[in-house]
Amino acid sequence: MKEGIHPNYEKAVIKCACGMTYEAGSTKKKLRVDVCANCHPFFTGKQKLVDTGGRVDKFKKRFGISDDK
Ligand SMILES: [Zn+2]
Repeated sequence: MKEGIHPNYEKAVIKCACGMTYEAGSTKKKLRVDVCANCHPFFTGKQKLVDTGGRVDKFKKRFGISDDK
C-alpha cells in the first residue's frame, strides 16, 4: 500500500435534516443527509420532513392540511 494516495479516514459528523447527528467514519468531516433512520418514512411511517420540489406542500394543499399551529 503506497502512502499518500489514501484519504484520511476520520470520524465524521453526519447531520440529518431532522436534526439528528451521527458519528461515522468517513473521508469527509461533515456530511449532511436529508433522511436518516430517525426520520426516514420507512421507519416513521410519516412524510419526509424535507421534501424536494414542494411535493409535500402540494399534497398538503390538496387535502387541506396546514402546517400552521
Ligand atoms: Zn433524520
